[in-house]
Amino acid sequence: MNYQKERQEIIEYGKALVTEQLTTGTGGNISLFIPEEQVMLISPSGIPYQDIELTDVVVLDLEGNILEGTRKPSSEYEMHKIFYKKNPEIRAVVHTHSDYATSVACLQKEIPPLHYIIGSVGRSVRCCAYKTFGTQALAEEAYQVMGANKGILLGNHGVLTVGTDLSEAFSIAKDIEFLAKLYVRSATLGEPVLLSEAELDVVVKKFKTYGQITN
Ligand code: 13P
Ligand code: ZN
Repeated sequence: MNYQKERQEIIEYGKALVTEQLTTGTGGNISLFIPEEQVMLISPSGIPYQDIELTDVVVLDLEGNILEGTRKPSSEYEMHKIFYKKNPEIRAVVHTHSDYATSVACLQKEIPPLHYIIGSVGRSVRCCAYKTFGTQALAEEAYQVMGANKGILLGNHGVLTVGTDLSEAFSIAKDIEFLAKLYVRSATLGEPVLLSEAELDVVVKKFKTYGQITN
C-alpha cells in the first residue's frame, strides 16, 4: 500500500472535522494532492469518519481514474480534482457542512468583512450558486467563485476551502465557521460595522506573513 503517511493524514483530519464540529455524519470530504506523482488521495464516500481505515482512502489520477482502493471515492471528487488540475499551488481541499456557515450559505449570501480574520480567506467569503452535490457543474461553479480566495460558501450546501496543505485548508474551514458565527450573532444585535477597503488591504497583506511564515 502506497502513501501510508498521506492516508493517515486524511483519516486524522476527517476525525477532526467531527471533533471540531465542522460536520456531522458523513457530510463533507477531504483530499490532498501529491504533485510529484500527480495523484490525489480522497476520503471514501459515505463512510463515517471514525470508521475510515487506511485502505479505505482512495487514490485517483487527475483524469478521475482510481489507482488504488476498492471503495467509491467521495462523491465530490470532481470538486476537489478541479483545483489540483487548474492551480498548481493547491495541495489540499476540505469540504464541510458546518452549522453557521451553512446557515449563511442557505441564504446564498456572502460573509462580509466584519472581523479581521476574514483576511485569511479573502476580502469576503463569497457564496456560489446552488448546484447538485457531486456534479461537474458544482465543481466548475465552486472553482470560478473561489478565484484567488482560500474558501467559499457553497449555496444551500456548505463550505469549501483550499490550502497548500491540509493544515491550512482545515484551519480556513474553522475560520469560516468562526466568521459565520460572528456574522449570524452580530446581525441579530444590529448591523455589523464592516472593515474599510483600506483596512482590508492591510489585513490581507498581513495574513501573507502571519505566523511562522517569514518571507
Ligand atoms: P461523500 O460522503 O460522498 O464525500 O459526500 C458527502 C458530501 O458532503 C457531499 O457533498
Ligand atoms: Zn457536502
